[in-house]
Amino acid sequence: MTTKDAVLDDSEVNVEKVNLLGMSEEKLAAFFESLGEKRFRVKQVMQWMHQRGVIDFDAMSDLSKVLRAKLATVAEITLPELVSEQTSEDGTRKWLVRLAGGSCIETVYIPEGNRGTLCVSSQIGCSLDCSFCATGKQGFNRDLTTAEIVGQLWVAAKAMDSLDPTKDRVISNVVLMGMGEPLLNFDNVVDAMNLMMHDCAYGLSKRRVTLSTAGVVPALDKLGDVTDVSLAISLHAPNDELRNQLVPLNRKYPIAELLRSAQGYLEKLPDKRRKITVEYTLMREINDRPEHARELAALLVDTPCKINLIPFNPFDQSDYQRVSNNALYRFRDILIEAGYTVTLRSTRGDDIDAACGQLAGQVNDRTKRSQRYRQQQDKGLEAVRIIPS
Ligand code: SF4
Repeated sequence: MTTKDAVLDDSEVNVEKVNLLGMSEEKLAAFFESLGEKRFRVKQVMQWMHQRGVIDFDAMSDLSKVLRAKLATVAEITLPELVSEQTSEDGTRKWLVRLAGGSCIETVYIPEGNRGTLCVSSQIGCSLDCSFCATGKQGFNRDLTTAEIVGQLWVAAKAMDSLDPTKDRVISNVVLMGMGEPLLNFDNVVDAMNLMMHDCAYGLSKRRVTLSTAGVVPALDKLGDVTDVSLAISLHAPNDELRNQLVPLNRKYPIAELLRSAQGYLEKLPDKRRKITVEYTLMREINDRPEHARELAALLVDTPCKINLIPFNPFDQSDYQRVSNNALYRFRDILIEAGYTVTLRSTRGDDIDAACGQLAGQVNDRTKRSQRYRQQQDKGLEAVRIIPS
């Protein structure tokens, strides 16, 4: 031992602390075991973090003082930094949070009565470049960690005093439908969803946690082996030719493969009555004609599903336009006549730019693709256009 080692005290030792917020029950159990602690500590600490909103170990009063001090030296509970919060006239709320590295993302809460749905992001930006989506325009920055995904729920629930499971839950549903393609961040997303459903964390029902995908088929083929959350697919077109233009990923995994994979997911679920949700964003004179509706009805005839129609929200840099009400209702009626359950997503939070397709955030974009996009814009070439899945 050198003289310097001999005089170091604890405060001088630079220990990289682990963030407990995104740890699954199993990972926390391994962590406490490594500290020589009993497994029941896992439940205690999960409840403090996720249900009581306590992030200071010193306030965890049912842990021994020794353990609290030990935790403070090797662990931390780190949340996204809340930058701003806005509330729409219709009650929709939006939080802007800053993540490690400085990028910001947005999380949106859409109320329905005294309950509601939280839309969370899984990546900073997105690599899939759907032509009608604001997020894709930013390019891809990085995957979110499990803590950053769960942290969005924590921040929103804390702001609405909705963490405590013994009280009425204001956030009754979570959809992974914000920025990013969740299946391209598979492990972190699965861990985050498991925490959302865990009894010692947020305790949401598996039917009320929904993963929405543009169709990363190999990952979707695996999803049913590790979770049984609700599934939504972002279809947006009734044939490959049109979908290739709207969702470029379709060129790799065409509609037939996506539907086969989605049906495979359903077949793995124990409850055979469950259905997928087909998301269809309607853009004026692009995919909103009666023949598109009839083609969609024929396409989905063997897929247990309900259909969610989403009027496109125009945004700067987008050439697409909102569907007319006439075309929207005509489209819906054709599907209903064909026997489908159809929901219309009403536009919410327009006044705070929280509507679907407006989750652009303030991402620090570092991708070459985005630089190319801007160069195209400068040259006056046709722009790509975008919306979250
Ligand atoms: S629609 Fe979804 S998958 Fe497509 S670019 Fe936007 S965030 Fe990515």
